[in-house]
This record gives sequence, C-alpha cells and structure tokens, in this order.
Amino acid sequence: MKSKQTGSFDKVLFQESVKKHLYATYATTFEKADKHAWFLAMGTALAELTTCDLLCTEHDEKIRNAKSVNYLSLEFLIGRLTGNNLISMGVYQQVAEAMEELGQNLTDLLEEERDPSLGNGGLGRLAACFMDSLAAQEFPTVGYGLHYEYGLFKQSFDHGHQVETPDAWRGVEGYPWEIARPDLAQEIGFYGHVETYQENGKEKRRWLPGMTVKAMPWDMPIVGYESNTVYPLRLWECQAIAPFSLESFNNGNYFEAQHSLIDAGNITKVLYPNDNHEKGKTLRLMQQYFHSAASIRDILRRHEEAGHTLASLPKYETIQLNDTHPTVSIPELMRILIDEKEMEWDDAWAICSKTFAYTNHTLLPEALETWDESLIQRLLPRHMEIIYQINYLFLKEVREKWPGDVEKQRKLSIIQEGFHRMVRMANLCVVGSYAVNGVAAMHSELVKQDLFPEFNVLYPGKLQNVTNGITPRRWLKFCNPELSELISQKIGSDWPTQLDQLRNIADYAEETEFQKAFMQVKQANKQRLADWVEQNMDIKLDTQAIFDVQIKRLHEYKRQHLNVLHILSMYHRLLHDSDFEMEPRVVFFAAKAAPGYYLAKEIIYAVNKIAEKINHDPRIGNKLKVVFIPDYRVSIAEIIIPAADVSEQISTAGKEASGTGNMKLALNGALTIGTMDGANVEIREEVGDDNIYIFGLEVDEVEQLKRSGYNPFDYYNSNSLLKASLDLLLGEEFTPGEPGKLRAIYDSLLDGGDPYFCLADFESYVKAHEAMDEQYKDTAGWAKKAILNTALVGKFSSDRSIQDYVNNIWKLETVKR
Ligand SMILES: *Cc1c(COP(=O)(O)O)cnc(C)c1O
Repeated sequence: MKSKQTGSFDKVLFQESVKKHLYATYATTFEKADKHAWFLAMGTALAELTTCDLLCTEHDEKIRNAKSVNYLSLEFLIGRLTGNNLISMGVYQQVAEAMEELGQNLTDLLEEERDPSLGNGGLGRLAACFMDSLAAQEFPTVGYGLHYEYGLFKQSFDHGHQVETPDAWRGVEGYPWEIARPDLAQEIGFYGHVETYQENGKEKRRWLPGMTVKAMPWDMPIVGYESNTVYPLRLWECQAIAPFSLESFNNGNYFEAQHSLIDAGNITKVLYPNDNHEKGKTLRLMQQYFHSAASIRDILRRHEEAGHTLASLPKYETIQLNDTHPTVSIPELMRILIDEKEMEWDDAWAICSKTFAYTNHTLLPEALETWDESLIQRLLPRHMEIIYQINYLFLKEVREKWPGDVEKQRKLSIIQEGFHRMVRMANLCVVGSYAVNGVAAMHSELVKQDLFPEFNVLYPGKLQNVTNGITPRRWLKFCNPELSELISQKIGSDWPTQLDQLRNIADYAEETEFQKAFMQVKQANKQRLADWVEQNMDIKLDTQAIFDVQIKRLHEYKRQHLNVLHILSMYHRLLHDSDFEMEPRVVFFAAKAAPGYYLAKEIIYAVNKIAEKINHDPRIGNKLKVVFIPDYRVSIAEIIIPAADVSEQISTAGKEASGTGNMKLALNGALTIGTMDGANVEIREEVGDDNIYIFGLEVDEVEQLKRSGYNPFDYYNSNSLLKASLDLLLGEEFTPGEPGKLRAIYDSLLDGGDPYFCLADFESYVKAHEAMDEQYKDTAGWAKKAILNTALVGKFSSDRSIQDYVNNIWKLETVKR
C-alpha cells in the first residue's frame, strides 16, 4: 500500500496553497502571521486534498454498490486531526520539510490545534478509533454524529475545586478540517400531532410536526492509512429555518409557536457532560431524535440515489447504534417506511429488523436509558404509537414462548409499567436489532447472564461479543514516534496495520541491548511529560521515579478513591514506619467529573489538596509526588500514555464494560495493576500472569460479599494501615485550619456503605503495588515485562474489532480504490 499522495505530493504547490490561505482565507500576511494563522492555513491546505478524495470516494460506483456500515453515535471523541491525518496521508515528513522552508516548525504548529472534544470518554473515543480502522481497512462507511457548538467542558482548578468553562473548539476562525455540505441538509420535525386520513380507501396515519429545524451536515475526513480512501464523519448542526416561527403564528397555532421560538441552535449547542449516567432531559431527547432523523434520512437518500430499492436496504446498509443514544432511529425508520413510503407494517419491520445492530456499553443501572412515555408522546407522538405497536407484537412473541408467564412480559416489555410509564431504550434496541454486542468477553457474558437472560433464550445467537480496540496509528505510531521507530527497526514497518506482528519483538524481550533501547525511549517520554508538568504546573519531577498513572473519567466505579487510599498509605508509612522502603513514585491523575456529580468533584478536590501537601512536605523528600493534570483530553493522553510505567485499571469487578485506556497504556509498555474486570481479563490472557498485576475481588466474590452483607467497618477496624490512611481524611492534615474538608470520601466509604468495595480490595491492592515496587528495582526484569506488554497486545487493535464486526455482524467487504 503506497500512498498516492506520497507519490504525487507537490511541495511547491502545497506551499503556494498554504500562502494563499494565509492571505485569502485568514487575511494576514507572510510577515505578520502568528503560529496559529500558519496552523490554520496549513490545515486548510491539507483539508483541500482530503476533501477531493472524500468526494471521489463518495462518487465511486464500486462503493455505492457495496454494503456500507453507518456508525451512529452521539459522541465522537476524535482529538486533533492534523498530525494523524498527515500520517495517514503518508506526507508527514514532506509537510514538515515544506513548512520548515516557510520558517515554521511542524511540531509547534500541531500544538496550535484545539482538540475537538465531541465526546465524554471511552464510548466517544471508541467511535473515533472505529472510524479510523474502517477507513484504514477500506470498509465503506459513514460516521454520523452531532456538530456540538461546545464540546466537553474545559476543566481547571480553583483552590483545588474543579471549574468548568465552555469549550468553543472551533475558535473564531472555524476548524480547518470540516467542510459544510449544505446540499445535504435535512429538515427535522418535533412536537405537533398525528392525524388519520384516507388514501385509496385505506386509513393512514401521518405526523404533523409543530416545529421544524434544519440539520446542516459538516463532514470531517477520515483518511484511510496510506490510501486515497477518505470516508466522512458527518456531524449534524441544528439551525433555525428562517423565518422560523412565522407559519405557526399565521396558523393561529399559538402554543406550537412557543416551541419554535426556542432557538433552534440550542439543540446542538452543547454536549451533555455525563459519562455513564443518563438524565432524562427534554433537550437531550431532542438531540437524540435530531441525530437519528437526520442520519436515517441521509442513509435513505444515499441508498435511493444509488438506485437501490427500499426492500434491499439491509443488503446495502447496516446501521450500528453506539449504545442506546440513537435508539429512536428504529421507530423513525419504521415511520418513514410506513407513513412516507407507504409500506405495510410487516414489510417495513422485515427491513428494519435486519438493518440495525446495537452495542451495549454498560450494565450500570443509572446508565441504562429510560425515557418518560409522556415526554416521547409530546415530542414525537407518531414514534410513540410505533413503539406501542412494536411492543404489542413483541409481547405476543413473549406470550407464545412463555404462555401465561406474566412476570416475563412485565420484565421484557419495552414499556416499564408504573405511575410514570417509561420506555426502556435497551429493550427496544434488542427487539429491533439483528445483533447485539457487548464490548469485552466478560461484559458480553454478563449481558447474556444478568442483563438480558430472557432475550438470550428468545433470540439465540443474537447476543454476541466484540472486544473493543484502539487504533495503533494514533495510540502508538503518532503518540510515541521513538518507540515506533525502534519497533520498525526490529520488525519492519507493517505493524501499524498488522498489529499482531508486534509479537515479533517478544524475541528481543530478554536482550540487554533492546531492553536498554526500549527503556531509553520510555525515559525520553517521561522527560517529555515531566517538562510539560514543570512548564504548565510548576512541579519538578524525578524521571527515575515510577510513573503511576490513572487517567479516565472520574467515577466511583473506576475507584480513583482507592488509588487515593494507596497514596495515603504510602504517605503514612513514609512518615511513621522507619522500616518502610519504596522506590520514588509519581502518581498522576487526569480526569473530568460530570458537573453535577458531587462525590466525583470531592475526590478531585481531595487529590489536589493531598498533592499540595505531599509535594511540599520536606519529610518525604522526593519519594512521593502527586500530580493532577487538568483538562484530560485526547491530546494530553497522547503525552501521558507513552510516559507511563504503571497503568491503573482498578474498577470494581463487573463494573467497567471494557476500558480502552488499559489497552493504550499496555501497548505503550506500561504494566497494568488491575482487577478482573472488562478487557483487563483479556489483556491478562494475552500478556500472561507474569506481566500484569491482578488484585481484588472477582465478580462472583463481589456478589457473594454483597449477599452476605458487606460491612466496610469490618475492614476499617481490622486493618491498621487502612484505618490510618482513611483517618488522614478526617483531620486538617491536607486542609490546614479547616479540618474535615475531605471527609466526604471518608463518609462514603464507611457510613455510606462503600458501594464499590474499595475497603474490601484495599489490602490486595497495596500488596500488588508492593510487588510492582519490588519489581521496579530489577531494571532488566521490568524492561522485559514492559516489552512483553507492547509485544503481546496486538489483539487490541481496533482493526481486529472491526474485522470481528465485519465477519460476525455486518458481513461486508472491503472496497479498494
Ligand atoms: C481512551 C480515553 C478514554 C477512555 O479511558 P478508560 O480508561 O477506558 O475509561 C477517555 N478519555 C480519553 C481522552 C481517552 O483517550
């Protein structure tokens, strides 16, 4: 695979284009332009190249006649595009030289790009990795998402407390990698009512929305690795249809006009900042329907423009629902087929139920979406009718399978009965999809056994597993260029598309020279991170220390507070146990808390206060440092991950569906300390017991302990180190003059019942850390384990995940251009 761009990259032409954009697009001059203007001009010049390929891909007859996957996700956490696209386009070096001749350093220019943070965490990042892998392997695809004006909030700290500010990621000049597609705009309705009318002697139903908005698509290019294939990530922006409320007023429809007075731009104004937690707000449901309706219409438009019949939709299009957020696509497609395309119910259902597939991302009850029936009724009256009909026919199936079993009907029904009737989106997805998958082997088993056991009986084979993955282009080749170079020297340069080949570096794991080279790269990456921390946070770090990192959304189930207890235990022992020895250690956190998540914010505050004290405590010297890096996002992950020695993956067993941070860190040579949860289980299978530090209760042990009555005080009272560590949170050790300011965590872990079993796992967690500490002294032994981690996690390439989807679910073929 050689890039055509590489072959045809015309440096002079490119430089002319950059200069033209500097003048004509960004209205500055060669002499006056600052770095940011240069970045914008360069980005725009590059985007021109990918836009050409995007349009060629779009019009390619082979692709129009092949089956495509439509990846529907409310979130795409894509991160910066420029560096990655340069690698995929195969012109990184050429562009670096071209810019150098214009007096600009490429690395500096890349730092000018603001992350498009259009997602919360793992779920959105997965969607981005999947788009990269789909394009890299040339599977026809369109990603459908929302064009939020503000992405995930920016995080800063004020006296240790999280402060959120809006993320205007496009800046005032706009984002160079996106291109508006006004020709593909759609109109989307809300509210209104449903009416019955007669046509050809038949009674029909139609929805008359009370409010209509415009969906404007913006395409971002997803560049195939070293190929000319460019598929779109299509993000819908909500715009008002001007003059937007006039007609409703003229109709005398005063009440409906109120709805249209809501600024239509509100719908995609801001990303909801909750990770693994749903709050049934009207605007969120509007976002979901807006996204679904625009995407379904666009899919049907492409399908019909290619000259295919509606009945053949499942042959040409598959629609993957990333969690239940786009579920309303299912009744929306039914509505269009029945009300607009005049199909019979059964024919429409035959199409629909062969087109959708659904990915479940969580078992956490608070994250399973349910919507008020009354809200759907008001916002989408025709969809509610269709959902009732789907449920009516489905419950008939349930009765046939389990005659007389009312309990089964109650449990499986798409409608949850009660004072406020609710629509269970996951049930609707399972009923309306041809395949359902969990995201790691263990999670998928729990989906079958605990979440949907009856569905697994009713629809044998429908519930499957596809273990998540990460793109090795961004998460090794781009973010860790020195390690990439070292690997390529040893095993050639095909590994970015054939990650299993990394296995070949295992041959060198015991070779002293290679160990040294590998650890030198790690050292350089640690230095790069330490420099960042010194420049941005004014903390000086010892790069010989163990770099112990926990970077992920802040959530009780992820147990950052268990990590805090470990820090407190080390601090306590350094101060009070003269026999205690440990390697110098820096514990890094990076995490955003949902703005309404009280305890998560208290944990952030506690880490910051503890860090303030420990980092300046002369009694412990440089033995222990704690660094909370603000504003966790893709571009900072790209700096932290290559520098990590220890990867903290310490969720309560059964709570983390997969995790993908665990994969990124292992790929970059960090050793995992983790529970038997999510993909940790499979990472252990791959790297072997000797190269991972597993601790804590397993799923069935957690369940057992729950059943037998878990009492955190039992652990508190019987483990003096645990007690001493927890008690540090009570006084004023970390909040001088203000005792008790950190006690929210203490209270949650004791009186609050410790819902995530931190105290139960504390002892084995500390032991696992002690074993790592001991291992770190053996430099060669550590190096061997780190190398084996990189060598043996090829399975976790998102290319493999996509192949699993293709072979077991989507059944599509690659199309080479
Ligand atoms: C990979 C990634 C995540 C997911 O991390 P987990 O440890 O799997 O929760 C979240 N945010 C960002 C920015 C990431 O890059």
